Amino acid sequence: MYHHVGDWGPARADWAPWVVKPADFNAQLDWLVEHGYHTINLAQLTAHREQGLALPDKPIVLTFDDGWGEDTAIAQQYLAPRKMHGVFFVFTGAVGGSPYLAWPEVKALEQQGHEIQSHTVSHPDLRQLTAAQLDHELQSSKQKLEQELGHTVDAFAYPFGLQDERVVRAIREAGYHLAVLAEGGNSRMASDPLLLPRWKMEYGEGVALFAQRITAH
Ligand SMILES: [Zn+2]
Repeated sequence: MYHHVGDWGPARADWAPWVVKPADFNAQLDWLVEHGYHTINLAQLTAHREQGLALPDKPIVLTFDDGWGEDTAIAQQYLAPRKMHGVFFVFTGAVGGSPYLAWPEVKALEQQGHEIQSHTVSHPDLRQLTAAQLDHELQSSKQKLEQELGHTVDAFAYPFGLQDERVVRAIREAGYHLAVLAEGGNSRMASDPLLLPRWKMEYGEGVALFAQRITAH
């Protein structure tokens, strides 16, 4: 799980968990290439989990949360040269406003082979919402993305990774097939598809720790 790529982590201390150093990010992506990993998207993961469709060797999902405007540059500068594809979770209420992506940019990412998935409408703590608010966050974001992109959108990232049983039930009822947390490690076939863990790479965390996490059993 990534959010930002930049050298400004130390300048804004509370952002350090959400920013990865460009040098570290390059080293992490190079490590994946050197060790034979292949980026896949969540549609592929769903097809594998539900229908047994084959995945490439050493599949990995690179996710980028929130739909920040810099995502276009991340895709072009870091992913494209390595023929890697990312999954970008956008919250639809932010699209079109600064400093977030605009709809043409969201669509361009998809046309470049990346995947767009849902991250609610307004990025709330879903546990605090009424039933009606919860339905709105889950369903309107899905519908808006489907309308803009012209196909089904059925994977989800919990804002802040926060959820409870009621939220997970609502995710299932809204028609999502996969949902990802903000921490917890490597995803397994035995993992609950609506509670898939991720690794969060933070500022200054180097390639050794990255490799240790990816290869953890
Ligand atoms: Zn987020």
